[in-house]
Amino acid sequence: MNTLPENSIDVLVVAAHPDDAELSCGGTIAQLTSNGKTVVIVDCTLGELSSRGTIEQRAIETQKANEILKVSGRVNLLMEDGNIELSKDNILSLIRSIRQYRPKIILCNPPHERHPDHENVHKLVRTAVFQSGLTMIKTEFNGKHQLPHRPDKLFSYMQTYDFEPSFYVDISDYFQVKMESIRAYSSQVFVAGEHNTQQPQTFISKPAFMEMIEARARYFGALIGVEYAEAFHSHEPIGFSSFAHWL
Ligand SMILES: [Zn+2]
Repeated sequence: MNTLPENSIDVLVVAAHPDDAELSCGGTIAQLTSNGKTVVIVDCTLGELSSRGTIEQRAIETQKANEILKVSGRVNLLMEDGNIELSKDNILSLIRSIRQYRPKIILCNPPHERHPDHENVHKLVRTAVFQSGLTMIKTEFNGKHQLPHRPDKLFSYMQTYDFEPSFYVDISDYFQVKMESIRAYSSQVFVAGEHNTQQPQTFISKPAFMEMIEARARYFGALIGVEYAEAFHSHEPIGFSSFAHWL
């Protein structure tokens, strides 16, 4: 029996910075929304420490990416970029979002990453997901008491560092949408004809980074016999109800 309130969504994607979601699981998001599933993205920071672009530019780019991926909503928790602490305030802030959207699945940054913010958001999400299910943790949203909620599944998407994936998602039909959503962030990544060479080059602003995104999706796709795929890790064992998918 579905006892979840009406505002329950299918998937909540939590990310340290605007563009993390697009780069790591944009294809999966596009696949979900194209199939009528509801996806909301929660960015923890505005990415104010980025060496390229401005906060205003990044906000416009994020809006463009939202439209490309057809997400139902996107919120920013306004935590401090570069200093995402596992503080009570930050945990409660994320719990409020989890209880507001009541997702079945949460996707988040992985535990071992090049960027420390990504690791910190992973810890924050693990903590918030657990505490969100506890009745004794009280939160309010718009002056109303929120009911506890714990999603069924929590998966990490893959960013810079490889990990041994628990499963891959076939994004062959949505790979171009993913790339389009990434190119929305033209202040951050290489977009032919729009590239600003006056600003400092970063890890993700070089053409090779976009090639890496494609090569990796191709490689993961090849491993499961499709054109393109994205990789995820589950902290808990996962199972299938049947072999129906292959039969
Ligand atoms: Zn990031």
